[in-house]
Amino acid sequence: MDAKPLRMDVVTIFPHMLDGILGESILKRAEAAGYIQVRGIDLRDFTTDVHRTTDDRPYGGGPGMVMKPEPIFKAVASVREKRSRVILMSPQGRVFNQAVARELAAEEHLVFICGHYEGVDERVREALVTDEISIGDYVLTNGVLPAAVVIDAVTRLIPGVLGHDESAVDESFSHGKLEYPQYTRPAVYEGMTVPDVLLSGHHGQVREWRQQQARERTQQRRPDLLTDERREGILPTGSKQGRSA
Ligand code: SAM
Repeated sequence: MDAKPLRMDVVTIFPHMLDGILGESILKRAEAAGYIQVRGIDLRDFTTDVHRTTDDRPYGGGPGMVMKPEPIFKAVASVREKRSRVILMSPQGRVFNQAVARELAAEEHLVFICGHYEGVDERVREALVTDEISIGDYVLTNGVLPAAVVIDAVTRLIPGVLGHDESAVDESFSHGKLEYPQYTRPAVYEGMTVPDVLLSGHHGQVREWRQQQARERTQQRRPDLLTDERREGILPTGSKQGRSA
């Protein structure tokens, strides 16, 4: 592999949460082959008190604890470079999707800041980060799982990471649509059959069937994707494909 690895630093008080995720499957292979380099940066290494404190009570009162700014600013400064994207994982951020994953896969260095408790001091958001990303409209206990979701989605889009058997070309969201239905052997399972066209050996008809299925599926389940397609210029405005029901 000639290209430099995409470096991803995860700033957290739980760096070992990443171990299992990075120790298996495609992420493990991608790291071993030099496509990515992921490090857990332990926030507690950037504290100055004997208790290695990373949180404190919120000004103004209220429940829970807020992550202090100093350790986060110091931890990020220890890894940040000129072109780093510094991403705050937050339920209040831009909602992550395949387009954002594609954008991040083209970067050189990503730094993820993972909150815990009630979240992080607002000055981190104001002065330190380049991006704020949410993985969906729900609240998790801390930012490591969300960061891992982003790392996984980004890594599989780096050219060379997926083998032919795992290609990202036709899959859901790659062309603004959901993927067509998939079948494998046996051709009949407990009376349930595979569509004849897939057994026909006729590549043109198979391609057409798949395109049609992908369109219908998207129309039924995620018509918003077809609208987005038009907005993003994937489909020409007024195209039949992009018309919502
Ligand atoms: N009090 C915060 C709020 O209401 O917006 C939620 C804090 S949450 C319990 C703790 C941390 O988990 C956040 O700082 C963030 O890093 C992470 N987190 C939780 N849900 C997330 C989501 N949907 N997307 C990204 N990060 C999330």
